[in-house]
Amino acid sequence: MPDHKDLAAQIAWAARALRAPAITATWQDLAHTARQAGWSHEAYLAAVLARQVADREANGVRIRMAGAHFPAIKTLEDFNVDHQPALRRDVLAHLAGCAFVPAAGNVVLLGPPGVGKTHLAIALGIKAIHAGHSVLFDTATGWITRLATAHATGHLPAELKRLRRYRLLIIDEVGYIPFDAEAANLFFQLVSHRYEQGSLLVTSNMPFGRWGEIFGDDVVAAAMIDRLVHHAEVITLTGDSYRTRTRRDLLAGDPTAITRTTSTN
Ligand code: ADP
Ligand code: MG
Repeated sequence: MPDHKDLAAQIAWAARALRAPAITATWQDLAHTARQAGWSHEAYLAAVLARQVADREANGVRIRMAGAHFPAIKTLEDFNVDHQPALRRDVLAHLAGCAFVPAAGNVVLLGPPGVGKTHLAIALGIKAIHAGHSVLFDTATGWITRLATAHATGHLPAELKRLRRYRLLIIDEVGYIPFDAEAANLFFQLVSHRYEQGSLLVTSNMPFGRWGEIFGDDVVAAAMIDRLVHHAEVITLTGDSYRTRTRRDLLAGDPTAITRTTSTN
């Protein structure tokens, strides 16, 4: 039998080779607990491995959250569904399960400003990250800039390919600024490239019927919508802006509005 020091060195070496630092950090304490509690060898091994798995998952979430470039942290738990009575709870719960991501399905959130499109987009993105998927968020303008830069240097195909490593791309605010022909073409290429390959989550203040105005061309818009919605959940949010609701309530003399002012922006 090797002595304890040899074993400790051997475990440290093996954990390094496996890139499993949580094993190094926890095996001794867990061994102590195991001896005291009379765990079987199997129970001890399972406990050590579980710590390592938990550590890796937490790291993965941290890394993917940093890489997603969300403009703010908005969660589904913080989303007040009572403000969206028409929004189907079962549809939202289904989306929160993120089955659409491995299936390369899309989500489209439509509705006027302030109804929570960006909030929901980020919240679903965070769910996807916790489900183990990598996500990248940007505004439509940001995406166009990124693609135009790649295109200008002849790297558009490479950039589109690189984006494949993100299982979910979020394109926020389609329609706030109309696209010129070049931008519309780049956007079309992005949507085509993702079709049945990777998920898109798109938000827009414009109903599909007006996407021709965004892209300056009804045919291009129709072709894009066709690909986007073929495997998609399209949700239309309605109602008043959540941003101005507190101000409205204050004007209407609702005293509870003041406490809410601090929790919304
Ligand atoms: P949109 O993208 O549709 O213009 P946002 O998602 O930016 O709207 O929402 C505006 C603000 O109101 C954000 O701070 C958001 O967190 C908040 N908000 C909107 N709808 C809700 C809601 N139903 N529950 C909680 N917060 C909401
Ligand atoms: Mg928004």
